[in-house]
Parts: sequence; C-alpha cells; structure tokens
Amino acid sequence: MSILVTGGAGYIGSHMVYELVDARESVVVLDNLTTGFHWAVPGEAKLVVGDIGDDALVKDVVRKHQVKAIIHFAGSIVVPESVADPLGYYLNNTVKSRALIAAAVASGVGQFIFSSTAAVYGAPRQVPVQETAQLEPMSPYGSSKLMTEIMLRDTSIAHDFSYVALRYFNVAGADPRGRTGQSTKGATHLIKVACEAALGKRPAMDVFGTDYATRDGTCIRDYIHVKDLARAHVSALEHLRGGGKSEIFNCGYSHGYTVIEVIEAVKRVSGQDFPVRFAPRRPGDPPEIVADSSKIRTNLGWQPQYDDLDRIVRHALDWEDRLSRLKRNAEPVAPVGA
Ligand code: UDP
Repeated sequence: MSILVTGGAGYIGSHMVYELVDARESVVVLDNLTTGFHWAVPGEAKLVVGDIGDDALVKDVVRKHQVKAIIHFAGSIVVPESVADPLGYYLNNTVKSRALIAAAVASGVGQFIFSSTAAVYGAPRQVPVQETAQLEPMSPYGSSKLMTEIMLRDTSIAHDFSYVALRYFNVAGADPRGRTGQSTKGATHLIKVACEAALGKRPAMDVFGTDYATRDGTCIRDYIHVKDLARAHVSALEHLRGGGKSEIFNCGYSHGYTVIEVIEAVKRVSGQDFPVRFAPRRPGDPPEIVADSSKIRTNLGWQPQYDDLDRIVRHALDWEDRLSRLKRNAEPVAPVGA
C-alpha cells in the first residue's frame, strides 16, 4: 500500500516525501520534472517521470503500487505568470487535476489531499480570513485552484471519495536537516528572492507596491514554514485514514509580515545588506492576507513548530547557500524586474 505524491520532486512536494519516508510510509512520486528535480526525491521513494494528465499512466501507477491515497501538489504556482498565461494555468491546475481525480475515482482511490491556496479568497474583507469567507480569487492562479476545490467537493458527494483541501498561505523555509529546499530557477517568491540578493546571486531586488493601506505601505502575508505545512498534510492523511469527512483547512500561522519586514529579517539573519528598489504594484496582489488557522488546530490538532520568521529565513538562507555550493542551480537567475 502506497501514497502517491504528485509533484513530489518540487519544493513543497519533496518536503512531503521526506516527511512520509521518515515515517516509513511507502511513497511513489509522479512528477514531469518541468520545475522539479529528480535529486529532490529521496532514494526511499519511487520516482515515476510523467504527467498527472496521463490517465493510463496514473491508473498503471495506482495498480502497480497499490496506491490508497493521493497527495496532489503538481501544478503551476506563480500569480503574475497566471495573469499572463491564464489558459496555461487552467490546463495545468484545473484540467489536469480533473484527469487525476477521474483516474483516482476509476481506480478506487478514496483518499485525496489537495494543495489549494489562500489565493482563492482574493482580497478578503476580513483578516485573519476564515475558511467560510467569500471566495473571490483575483488571479487565474486562484481561480484555477478554486475550480479544483469545486470538483473535489462534487466528486466527494457522488462517489466513495474523501478529500482534504489545504489552503496554503505563503510557504517558505527549507528542510531543517538541509536535504531539500526551494530550488526553482528564476524564482519569484519573496523570501527566496531576498535570500538570493543576500547571497549576491542578484544585484538588487524590487518591492512591488509601496502605497497599500498597510502599516508600511507594502503587502502583508502569512509566511508558513514548509516543514509545518508538510506536517499539516500528515495530520490530514491521518484524518482521512481514520474515516474523517471531507474538509477544507487554512494553513498559516494567523499573523503576517509586510514585504519590508521580511526583507529586514533577511538582512538581519544573513548579516548582509543589499539594494532594494521601490517598484509599482504587481498585478493580482491582494494588500493583506493572513490565515485564521483555528480550524486546523482544533479539528486536526495541528501545532506549528517553526512559527518564527527569523528561523524560516535562516533555513531558506542555509538552503540557498547549499544550492550554490552544490551547483544545482546552474542557470542564471532572471534579471531583477524582468
Ligand atoms: N514581492 C516583492 N518583491 C519580490 C517578490 C515578491 O515585493 O521580488 C511581494 C509581492 O508583491 C507580494 C509579496 O511579496 O506582495 C509576496 O509575494 P510572493 O510572490 O512571495 O507570494 P504570493 O503572495 O504572490 O503568493
């Protein structure tokens, strides 16, 4: 009996795979390696290189490995990219998720955990935002994930199929043991970009928007350590294995930091100064998004262990440094502002 992790060679997926193999679970990874890396998958897990939209392949993997649960990470995750290429996002995140869910139902896999996102809320009217808030995505990325949540809800009503959708807030940090981390080339996420700037991999970085109605004019986000997020999936899996019903949970710490506060943390922890430029707003960015995480704490007993921005940044910096030494990130990063 195995757990199928789609996107298990990627950033969050590889942390999940380590979490599972550390707990001696049998794991098979399905990843097309467009943004993932084969080396990010631990030797104890089986890597199948292929696409989640390949119905025959998914069914074959499920049968061969006696898959009982699917944890679905594979997809595209960059908000501005989704604004520029909405149809690409609806293909990768919605159409292919539909194919994966259909293959799961046809193969009798009744437990499914889905990587959703806080972007389904858009710019929430109330912060911290609860799971019951209005769903008004501001980007094709958020819409593409919301559509999958809707498919899961309807599928769970029609079939013997239970799911947990985890709405991630801003995921950062790296494996505290240094085995994997955020390795994407041409990264766009704030903590990764700031760490690259601190280590001299970029000459400077931009702050997108300084005129928001927040304490210093820059956007506020709730940054969650990737290890705490992986542990939330373990709790969700236990819930489903115990016969728990389908649920949706926010994954965040319930407090946020501005872009400037994050950059200050990276400068403080790294001991490095680097040039920061003030740039116009980025399309699709809500001003403030912070989780109300009481539901997952109460229902699943989830307790974060890394709720500390400096520690998140420390782990991200350590990984960034390790990446350069391993020369895994061989391609040059995109120029700032590109
Ligand atoms: N951001 C920034 N400069 C960067 C990258 C991000 O100012 O180089 C800002 C971005 O505009 C947003 C916040 O940092 O307000 C978090 O963005 P990120 O892309 O990390 O995550 P998102 O919230 O879009 O999922």
